[in-house]
Amino acid sequence: KTIPALFAETVRAHGERDAAVFLGQDKRFSWNELSETVDAFAAGLLALGLQKGERIGIWSPNRWEWLVTQFATARLGLILVNINPAYRLTELKYALNKVGCRALVTAAAFKSSDYIGMLQTLAPELATAEPGKLEAAALPTLRLVIRMGEETTPGMANFGDVLASGGLDEHERLDAISQELDPDEAINIQFTSGTTGAPKGATLSHHNIVNNGNFVTSAIRLTAEDRLCIPVPFYHCFGMSMGAVGCVSKGATMVFPDEGFDPGAVLKAVAGERCTGLYGVPTMFVAMLDHPDFASFDLTSLRTGIMAGSPCPIEVMKKVVSLMHMSEVTIAYGMTETSPVSFQSNVDDPLEKRVSTVGRIQPHVEVKIVDADGMTVAVGEAGELCTRGYSVMKGYWQDEEKTREAIDAEGWMHTGDLATLDAEGYCNIVGRVKDMVIRGGENVYPREVEEFLYRHPKVKEVQVFGVPDEKFGEALAAWIVLTPGQSATEEEIKAYCQGQIAHYKIPLYIRFKDSLPMTVTGKPQKFIMRDEMVAELG
Ligand code: ATP
Ligand code: MG
Repeated sequence: KTIPALFAETVRAHGERDAAVFLGQDKRFSWNELSETVDAFAAGLLALGLQKGERIGIWSPNRWEWLVTQFATARLGLILVNINPAYRLTELKYALNKVGCRALVTAAAFKSSDYIGMLQTLAPELATAEPGKLEAAALPTLRLVIRMGEETTPGMANFGDVLASGGLDEHERLDAISQELDPDEAINIQFTSGTTGAPKGATLSHHNIVNNGNFVTSAIRLTAEDRLCIPVPFYHCFGMSMGAVGCVSKGATMVFPDEGFDPGAVLKAVAGERCTGLYGVPTMFVAMLDHPDFASFDLTSLRTGIMAGSPCPIEVMKKVVSLMHMSEVTIAYGMTETSPVSFQSNVDDPLEKRVSTVGRIQPHVEVKIVDADGMTVAVGEAGELCTRGYSVMKGYWQDEEKTREAIDAEGWMHTGDLATLDAEGYCNIVGRVKDMVIRGGENVYPREVEEFLYRHPKVKEVQVFGVPDEKFGEALAAWIVLTPGQSATEEEIKAYCQGQIAHYKIPLYIRFKDSLPMTVTGKPQKFIMRDEMVAELG
């Protein structure tokens, strides 16, 4: 099924019910209103001459225009390119040129970033260009920039004007165009988080995204009665595939607390909108639980949700169940390249499995765990997780070499993650292959040490990683963010580990930090921590 076909079914079934609420912009849509706005924007894009298969970028935080653009571009078979809202000049230029974007939909600004100003610096030609006819030396394929907001900028079209510009003829052509789409065609280029280095552009089809959105929300029993709070970014698969497409597939209401992530805004949104579900990466839940006014928010409407994106500490999961009322919460595991989710627990799984594993393999996805020689390991042993099935991306955009490294000739996606499977099929993610530390011949999985340190009452966040060491090859380092108002010493933390975990797992270096380097998707970037530690150690 295509994304527009799925969307149309939901609009027919749930028309007047709430589709989406954007609290940061104070904007609400019923399914009918959303559908009309999507159609109007699609007709406007058609009037501007955009054609199926062309790439159109979107550079914006979580705004209603994102949602409209997502479904309008799908209606025309345009390939939407999700651009990280944290990008600056160089990265934006790279992304737009890499995939040859013909058009860009942009917010005016986000936090301290002046998007319009950056674009004007990158393409001074905008000042004299007619909207839609841009020719900029630095952005050779870009012809059209559509800006959000009320103001106007020379050379750019306004989102509102595009909404109004489609004529009768364009509206009439819309349905015919949507019906001719092939579910296996590329519809989206999503960039990975950049947790381990430069983000990679995964090309996904309607089929990839529609099915994943469906399975992910079935596992948490989402229905049209639910109101799902989505604080994760649209630009990432968690927000757009699991969030937006997931809600469309069930007719559930999407609630967006704010443009960017703010723990107080999320708690307020859940309480104020009586949300029944909540998504987030572990660091977001930690920040919410830690909010000074946490106890003052009425979260009793919550029932379900998903924690995913990086290792989900058991201690945090338990608090989410007991303090946030999310008795049916599940952990999901996946990656952008697999649309994204491949493992997720189901509400029917015992609670203990739901807080301590990433659940079992999704329907229609195969799994194997292999050693360095590609041989399947014994049950319970760790190895590289490989998945195969409907969810695997088409490839990295125009990068056959990288695609071949990731997806082998038999169609297996090599995830780069280390995992174990138990006899019942429940999976544990042990860590990333790249993050495993080999200290004096002993394999150490940082995740295990992190889980242990999380139990220390003063520890709010912790990340463990390896740094080069002359004697042992590698040594362990831990960066810790303490619970507000607490102080601790290196010795105190080491003493806490003594006798509790093997000596070679006790971090040699312990540093206390105010915050950890994070991607926009809230994932700790160990490569940055490692570089800083190496610089410090000389
Ligand atoms: P990049 O590929 O650019 O370095 P990334 O891998 O973080 O970044 P994503 O596609 O957003 O980009 O994330 C997928 C990765 O996130 C997985 O490969 C895995 O390492 C991690 N991950 C996702 N969910 C979980 C989970 N529930 N438990 C542990 N790790 C997870
Ligand atoms: Mg990755």
